[in-house]
Amino acid sequence: MTVNDPSSTSLQLTADGQLRHFLTLDGLDRTLLTEILDTADSFIEVGERSIKKVPLLRGRTVVNLFFESSTRTRSTFELAAKRLSADVLNLDISTSATSKGESLSDTLLNLEAMASDMFVVRHSQSGAPHFIAESVTPGVAIINAGDGRHAHPTQAMLDMLTIRQHKGRFEGLKVAIVGDVLHSRVARSQIRALNELGAAEVRVIAPATLLPRDVESLGCRVEYDMARGMKDLDVVIMLRLQKERMEGALLPSEREFYRLYGLNQEKLALADPGCIVMHPGPINRGVEIESAVADGPQSVILNQVTNGIAIRMAVMSMAMGGQVADRNRKLAEGAHG
Ligand code: ASP
Repeated sequence: MTVNDPSSTSLQLTADGQLRHFLTLDGLDRTLLTEILDTADSFIEVGERSIKKVPLLRGRTVVNLFFESSTRTRSTFELAAKRLSADVLNLDISTSATSKGESLSDTLLNLEAMASDMFVVRHSQSGAPHFIAESVTPGVAIINAGDGRHAHPTQAMLDMLTIRQHKGRFEGLKVAIVGDVLHSRVARSQIRALNELGAAEVRVIAPATLLPRDVESLGCRVEYDMARGMKDLDVVIMLRLQKERMEGALLPSEREFYRLYGLNQEKLALADPGCIVMHPGPINRGVEIESAVADGPQSVILNQVTNGIAIRMAVMSMAMGGQVADRNRKLAEGAHG
């Protein structure tokens, strides 16, 4: 598949526009993105109760299929599924049969034979969740937990929830994404979400070597100078240098990168005084962000993590609902056919 494959839209939405897989934000409109945010809002309260459970996925089996390492995403998906009352299986791919040569399709066939209802997939190859969604048994939902450089839609949506909580709106906001945009699936999904939800301006601030060639066509303005880029910002999102995806030397040195693009208190002071600081994690202190900023009063980095649970509950329950609606529609068509 190509990265912006329109077939993702028909694959991830039912005939009447409900979510049935969650692969990418491409093709999802403002109404659906807002519905995800509103549904997540309703789940925040569940996380504040002493008994943090609702029965929406009771009797369902969710398999966390992580082919790439993860801390926050995997654990918040697990917590989200458990708070929806699902049974959860975490498959450690490094110790699974994949390492004995089993193909992805065969692993999936075996997991489906265990009557799984949902796979949460992280993979280093862009398009892997799309491929799985195309081949999986009808009724089984696929949720993308990050594929290569392509997309990380639940991360972008938890970021949107955090922005909406702190700013109350998207209209009129100036948002910058700083650092390694080239290798960032997070940045691609964020740019898409911010534009669809009506942000006034999305800037990317980075050296040319860390920007994709077509970056402006994603819907953002490029700024190479951090001091100029920080002006009037309402939200600044820092990215990690994704060395695991870098081929060759793209930077003179980490020290030089930090000097030019690292966020410290002096650079943050150039933004609007109410500017919030975000980061998808894991953060590298002293590489892209100074501790005084990461732990400072404008940082909402830990709110992002908390919001990850509510967003993942929203997406999982909506996709399962879409799968059920799809099945009922097909049964009704069969009955009348
Ligand atoms: N956790 C995010 C991701 O999986 C960002 C990062 O790793 O830097 O893409």
